[in-house]
Amino acid sequence: MGQNIDFEIVVIGGGIIGLASAYKIALGHPDVRIAVLEKEERIAAHQTGHNSGVIHSGIYYTPGSIKAKTCAKGRKELVAFAKKYKIPYEICGKIIVATQKKELANLERIFNNGRESEIEGFEKIGPEQIEEIEPFCHGIAGIRVPCTGIIDFAEVAKKLGELTEEKGKGNKVLTSHKVLSFDKHDFFTNVVTNKGAFATKYIINCAGLQSDRIARADGVEPAVKIVPFREDYYELKEKAKEKVKALIYPVPDPTFPFLGVHFTRKIDGSVECGPNAVFSFKREGYGKIDFNFKDSWEALSYRGTRKMFFKHWRYGLGEYARAFCKRWFLRQLQRLIPTLNANDIRPGNAGVRAQAVGPRGEPIDDFKIEKRKNSIHVLNAPSPAATASLAIGDYINEIATENFNL
Ligand SMILES: Cc1cc2nc3c(=O)[nH]c(=O)nc-3n(C[C@H](O)[C@H](O)[C@H](O)COP(=O)(O)OP(=O)(O)OC[C@H]3O[C@@H](n4cnc5c(N)ncnc54)[C@H](O)[C@@H]3O)c2cc1C
Repeated sequence: MGQNIDFEIVVIGGGIIGLASAYKIALGHPDVRIAVLEKEERIAAHQTGHNSGVIHSGIYYTPGSIKAKTCAKGRKELVAFAKKYKIPYEICGKIIVATQKKELANLERIFNNGRESEIEGFEKIGPEQIEEIEPFCHGIAGIRVPCTGIIDFAEVAKKLGELTEEKGKGNKVLTSHKVLSFDKHDFFTNVVTNKGAFATKYIINCAGLQSDRIARADGVEPAVKIVPFREDYYELKEKAKEKVKALIYPVPDPTFPFLGVHFTRKIDGSVECGPNAVFSFKREGYGKIDFNFKDSWEALSYRGTRKMFFKHWRYGLGEYARAFCKRWFLRQLQRLIPTLNANDIRPGNAGVRAQAVGPRGEPIDDFKIEKRKNSIHVLNAPSPAATASLAIGDYINEIATENFNL
């Protein structure tokens, strides 16, 4: 007792989820002091700063799931937020295109999901309409989703950080503060960082690729493990950019948590194509041969990872082959744009996805947020969590308000 509390709440992770959560709590509880601790020199250094920048509609996700609910709600709020704070964005729409008959059943499933989740304005389109919208794209059937857009999520995160500091008394977003451990006492916890310790009452873990480790350090044994997947992209060279007007996506295979190889025009005007998704031997490694012993050992010694590899070895090998062979990658891209050639593309960016995997080798599809008496742990927040971030922030604020008695 008698311990001075530095911050009532410490949020670990200055990605878009940590910052949106802090912002929503700051709005709801301006008297609660919040610190966001980010280990890198800048915020949004990992998933938030390495993504495709698509404001997803919510059409893909299982109706009623947290993903479906927060994506559609978060999208609308994100667009209003971007408008209010003058963050560049564009609602350019997207098409989802089937190129083979065997994809039609999944296309129908997506269409029905969209109807059940009440996504606005989408419609079925045929080959002529596909060509009208995207003259270089070839497909046998598709869905046009007009409410999909593009934005730079790092800019959104930056604004959320600024507003968090503005809205509350004594709120801080502290970069270069790596959380190392928790020193737990009866009525408070010392969050130990490389720059000293902060006494706090409550912890919110939004550490993305490190979230399972932070949970374990807090005494929570998550039933899942983060398995990192690197997603490599190519980009279109200047002369080939005319081949993509906005966003062209294939029909995703529902077995995997990826959307398939697609074309994305980004808010800076570049056009990204990919990804190729492979197991990453380093949680925060963006190069093809990056390796970290601890990360690799932890992932590969986990039963869930081995089971997943065993089940999907053929798919995994295909992705690995494409990671190192431009010709094979190109072949995948040509399914949607047959006239694309090797001179049209050059290597682009890469991102690493924090994918929670269960012990039976199942990638966790929905967002996973666990609550304890004095802590909240975001254990799975892959795509479309950036789109959904403001709605996820609301959800975390609700849990914090109730659980932490704010
Ligand atoms: C390739 C790719 C493309 C994607 N495309 C889209 C898209 O188009 N649209 C969309 O909506 N979503 C997309 N996503 C998903 C989206 O980017 C993520 O869901 C979202 O960014 C998750 O945010 P986060 O805050 O949970 O994680 P992060 O952004 O990874 O943030 C976690 C933060 O925690 C920090 N941290 C970790 N450990 C510690 C520690 N010990 N101490 C202090 N700080 C720590 C990290 O440095 C990091 O900054 C994509 C993801 C990837 C990988």
